[in-house]
Amino acid sequence: MSNQSNAWTGHRVPIVGGNWKMNTDRVSGLALANAVASAVAGVGGVEVVIFPPFPYLAGISEALCAAGSAVILGAQDVYHADRGAFTGEVSPVMLKDVGVKMALCGHSERRHVLHEGDDMVNAKLQSALGTGLHVTLCVGEKFEERVTDQTNTVIERQTERGLRDITAEQLSRIVIAYEPVWAIGTGKVATPEDAQSAHAHIRTVVGHMFGPAAGAAMRIQYGGSVTAANAAGLFGQPDVDGGLIGGASLKAEDFVGIVKAAANTGAGR
Ligand code: PEP
Repeated sequence: MSNQSNAWTGHRVPIVGGNWKMNTDRVSGLALANAVASAVAGVGGVEVVIFPPFPYLAGISEALCAAGSAVILGAQDVYHADRGAFTGEVSPVMLKDVGVKMALCGHSERRHVLHEGDDMVNAKLQSALGTGLHVTLCVGEKFEERVTDQTNTVIERQTERGLRDITAEQLSRIVIAYEPVWAIGTGKVATPEDAQSAHAHIRTVVGHMFGPAAGAAMRIQYGGSVTAANAAGLFGQPDVDGGLIGGASLKAEDFVGIVKAAANTGAGR
């Protein structure tokens, strides 16, 4: 996969991820991966990642390889140690071993259902990057934070703490997903203007931390109730570089419609 934006030239290739969460089974997951791979084979100008559940990663990795697909295999989570007495956890080394290239860190369900804090998210991110994986860092405010005007404060904190102690080379393997928690799985999508405002803020924060060129080069996806019908409006915003998709990634046709919307809006960015 590309290192975000063509070696810091400022051209950001849009990226669309499908987060399957705890859905599919071995057979339907394989069928979905194959359907996505064949449908996006001729679609250029966009990167596509799928994040199946852990047990299906190895099988899907083999299928993508056999098909010669450019679809990137991602994991929904990763632990922050390579091996040892951590019952139930999965290490970045193990993920890499089965062909995973990217890991989600800090998805809102991990933060708010499984109570992962910013330090844990940063440890996971560092561990994944240290193993050579790419990372999607998810940030986003809860509804009560939005209505009390704390959106920028929350996404600033999550971005700064998530990216703490990251090198410039590692930064080039990170994508940020802005996912307002109130929009995830609810059908309540952010307006393109609200998404743009949050993305612009995140870009400014990255610029303050790593320099303006790094801020300009960072790919920032929007996630939260994206569908094939609303994708073009969101992805048409100047700072929205594709999407992280949950529900609509479970049907190949819907997901591919979103991938095509990203390909169409990304040119010349
Ligand atoms: C997600 O899980 O990251 C997500 C954005 O879900 P949905 O598209 O279903 O809102």
